[in-house]
Amino acid sequence: MKEGNILNQTGTRIAYFSMEIGLNSDVPTYSGGLGVLAGDTLKACSDLRIPIVGMTMLYRQGYFYQKLDPKGQQSAEPYEWQPKRFLNLLPEKVSVDISGRSVFVQAWTYRVVGRDGFEVPVVFLDTEIPENDPEARFFCRTLYGGEDRYRLSQELILGVGGVRMLEKLGFNDLRRYHLNEGHSAFLTLELLKKNLVLDGPGAIEAVRQKCVFTTHTPVPAGHDKFDYSLVREVLGDYFPLEELKKLGGGERLNMTLLALNLSDYVNGVAKSHGEVSREMFPGYSIDAITNGVHTGTWACESFNRLFSEMIPGGMNDPFSLRYILSVPRERIQRAHQAAKKELIELVNRTTLAQMSEEVLTIGFARRATAYKRFTLIFSDLDRLISISRNIGRLQLVFSGKAHPEDREGQAMIKAVIETAKRIHPDIPVAYLENYDMELARIMVSGCDLWLNTPRKPKEASGSSGMKAALNGVPSLSILDGWWIEGCLEGITGWAIGSAQVENNEDAVDAASLYEKLERVIVPLYYSNQEGWVDVMRNSIALNGSFFNTHRMMQQYVLNAYMF
Ligand SMILES: *Cc1c(COP(=O)(O)O)cnc(C)c1O
Repeated sequence: MKEGNILNQTGTRIAYFSMEIGLNSDVPTYSGGLGVLAGDTLKACSDLRIPIVGMTMLYRQGYFYQKLDPKGQQSAEPYEWQPKRFLNLLPEKVSVDISGRSVFVQAWTYRVVGRDGFEVPVVFLDTEIPENDPEARFFCRTLYGGEDRYRLSQELILGVGGVRMLEKLGFNDLRRYHLNEGHSAFLTLELLKKNLVLDGPGAIEAVRQKCVFTTHTPVPAGHDKFDYSLVREVLGDYFPLEELKKLGGGERLNMTLLALNLSDYVNGVAKSHGEVSREMFPGYSIDAITNGVHTGTWACESFNRLFSEMIPGGMNDPFSLRYILSVPRERIQRAHQAAKKELIELVNRTTLAQMSEEVLTIGFARRATAYKRFTLIFSDLDRLISISRNIGRLQLVFSGKAHPEDREGQAMIKAVIETAKRIHPDIPVAYLENYDMELARIMVSGCDLWLNTPRKPKEASGSSGMKAALNGVPSLSILDGWWIEGCLEGITGWAIGSAQVENNEDAVDAASLYEKLERVIVPLYYSNQEGWVDVMRNSIALNGSFFNTHRMMQQYVLNAYMF
């Protein structure tokens, strides 16, 4: 998406700030669901002609490139990529004072082009400039690397530098600033400063009117907090500390609190996450807009073709994916088989798993972090093997990166790979390296069943199951996040455990998982192909048509941007 430098500043009304934005796997500046959602959001805006500009950071070493040794030990390598191949460098520079000196910030742009040519610019901030000292240049090296001071500096660049850069680039008629998670909450301070009277209720109200905040974190520990001693060192006299404490919490600076206090519209990312957030932050009005995925990005080639043929215009009007109900089962099966072939070939080319296109294939891929419970399906290996031997054969494809500091996550990957060796060849298990958007697309469309086993209520929404549904792949999942809304038992997929349970136990969930496989899912797959394809078709008709960013953005426009 290179060429030309002209930004459509004058018509742009909304600025969308996110610490990570995942547009495609060539621009590796995302770590997982948050970033992919941000990218999908901006793509839907380009399709719907919503005048928005994206603001994020450019990480020269990406998140990281994952390598796995034969024992399953992960190593994190710098992700080598060349920004200038995909982005345009702009001449404008701004500066932000960080830890007592000026840090210069430059900007690159990426153009997201919608289905009828409407363009949404995405601005990537970058401190890799000769004027900066080595530490300052390092601020744009990695995403979520380093300790608090590094993180705080990055958030200052994004929030304060971002507002200044937009002004410098001529975006002077912005009506809304959308904070995708609390990382960018410093932008509220910069807006406050522009209103001169810092502590006047009028100034705060004026800023609130402009800000929209989407929270993604259902557990208190997940919210960014900084010690005020560090804040004082890094921010210097940028903002009076006493005023800041009134807005961001007295003990430590809580970025979520800062965002909550300075936003007029706040939402969680699924209905249940809205409820959890209201409990976590009593006294704030918190709405819910359930996440979605971008149809044009996540429908695989064969379904893309099927949709264009049978549901013309469906990709830009995903509501009409409901008409898939009148498409013959055989066409759906054929489209799926093409996607499955691609996945199985990839697995057999890159691993020793020796998979077959005839076997029920379970997919599991996401960030490898403890609450996602990668190994829940391995709780009782004898039972799993007995299902595969006696009811119908199974094979499993895994993928996912663990944060380099996350020991538990890395141990989980190792456990999957060790278990794979133990149950081979009874159940072929593959772990594909370096999960990214490209691999995600192959996996969510090529498996037969998408498995998700988070510990409740930690999955704020989850989105890979939505991508699977769009490709006719049903989910088997814990009733958390989006699946509470998406699951119609036996119609769009299956639930593990019950909706009522709050602190789910591994053993109980594992038993429920095996029960579903043994009694319902595996028999359906092998003995009732028509019944199986009905579930596939319903996944598209009921979930593909709803859990997409077109619907989601229409809700943001009506509920958040036009308030
Ligand atoms: C969609 C996606 C995710 C998010 O998946 P969840 O189900 O929400 O955990 C993470 N990483 C990549 C590369 C993705 O494409």
